[in-house]
Amino acid sequence: MFDGLSKKLGDVLGRLRGRGALNEADVDAALREVRLALLEADVALPVVKQFIDGVRPKAVGAEVIRSVSPGQMVVKIVHDHLVEMLGGEASELNLNAVPPVVVLMVGLQGSGKTTTTAKIARRLTLGPQGMAADAFGGSFKERKKVLMASLDVTRPAAQEQLRILGEQAGVATLPIVPFEQPLGITRRALDEGRRGGYDVIMLDTAGRLAIDEQLMAEVAAVRDASKPTETLLVADAMTGQDAVNTARAFNEKVGITGIVLTRVDGDARGGAALSMRTVTGRPIKLLGAGEKIDALEQFHPDRIATRILGMGDIVSLVERAAETIEKEDAEKLAAKVRKGQFDLDDLLQQLRQLRKMGGLQGLMGMLPGAAQAKAAMQKANLDEKVIKRQEAIIQSMTPKERRNPDIIHASRKKRIASGAGAQVQEINKLLKQHAEMVKMMKRVNKMGEKGFMRSLGN
Ligand code: GDP
Repeated sequence: MFDGLSKKLGDVLGRLRGRGALNEADVDAALREVRLALLEADVALPVVKQFIDGVRPKAVGAEVIRSVSPGQMVVKIVHDHLVEMLGGEASELNLNAVPPVVVLMVGLQGSGKTTTTAKIARRLTLGPQGMAADAFGGSFKERKKVLMASLDVTRPAAQEQLRILGEQAGVATLPIVPFEQPLGITRRALDEGRRGGYDVIMLDTAGRLAIDEQLMAEVAAVRDASKPTETLLVADAMTGQDAVNTARAFNEKVGITGIVLTRVDGDARGGAALSMRTVTGRPIKLLGAGEKIDALEQFHPDRIATRILGMGDIVSLVERAAETIEKEDAEKLAAKVRKGQFDLDDLLQQLRQLRKMGGLQGLMGMLPGAAQAKAAMQKANLDEKVIKRQEAIIQSMTPKERRNPDIIHASRKKRIASGAGAQVQEINKLLKQHAEMVKMMKRVNKMGEKGFMRSLGN
């Protein structure tokens, strides 16, 4: 589905690969082309804007980690933002309710609703049998007893179609009663579901060629009568923005819990997949990738993002480099801590890390033997504003002062304070905190980590 978009983005970002340093103009030029590529892929305009606005500040001035080129860094930033836009984590079917759990299938006619109903039912019936270990999430790990019912009384052959699919898939269908209306069928399905000890009831509602009030009213009535745990909208990826508008309308009128995007095996430009989450706030849960009954895939945002960019190798390269560097930095710091050489430059580096990670749970937490510094920082109650201020203070010091805080007497303090726009008291406080940290680190080194934690009362 993403072939065209993937090629375009590959070209744009590929050109960035060799650059030495990435400035605002480079990023802007690249993002202009990313923007065009997204628009050409039929991604909704507000979604494109939101995407670019999100990537830009992350890319401009991004710290380019060692052993990676700035272009590669941008690829990683665009990739991560794509993943976020696609919903972050894979979203599983929710079947957590007292059985029989109702799954309501909604969507326009021809979207693939009936086929998808049978695909999901079959997958649930089979359980883990015959599927790749990580192809599906937890919701498909157990075998389920599934009953399908077609509520489509407008298209004469619809109920028969589901019955035949059920037979092929080895899934039970509710016997057809001629002229019965959707609400009647719903009630009978619920009764049969309870009586027959079914785990899941799948209700395949009627579609229309376009959204109309009558359809929405009918689906809403079925929803009220059946209290579904999942209401899945089935949408055709080939219809691009129309699919997104359909999803929005169904979500507003009926309320949906997830989306199944069908025909991703075709040459759809991918815009629907990219816009769905942002526009509806609902996750894409599954993909229909063919007419065959087993052509159903779980939607993995990270895998899709990688497919769109076509640069999985670079993304994992940057990830590996980042891990290595974090480990190296952590080891270097740990060595300094052990020797009692934790100076103000190290503190500055830690403050920056803290701020980047938005909390105390990052690097410090990973350091064996540096739990003490973390404890001291926690005690100092560092929030983002405080951290920024402390960074500014350290940056106003000379390299010599950072290495030997002992030489910072009254006149130096005044100079640092005016340089950082701070009070001398704040300089004192920071120096005191640093001195306390160093003292604690030395204490730990003497008594070992366990003894230190005991001394803190933990
Ligand atoms: P409904 O009207 O929404 O119930 O749509 P159907 O389930 O009857 O599907 C309409 C047509 O689309 C059928 O010919 C299906 O085989 C086909 N179809 C459904 N899902 C997919 C898919 O993921 N890929 C492809 N290529 N065809 C599909």
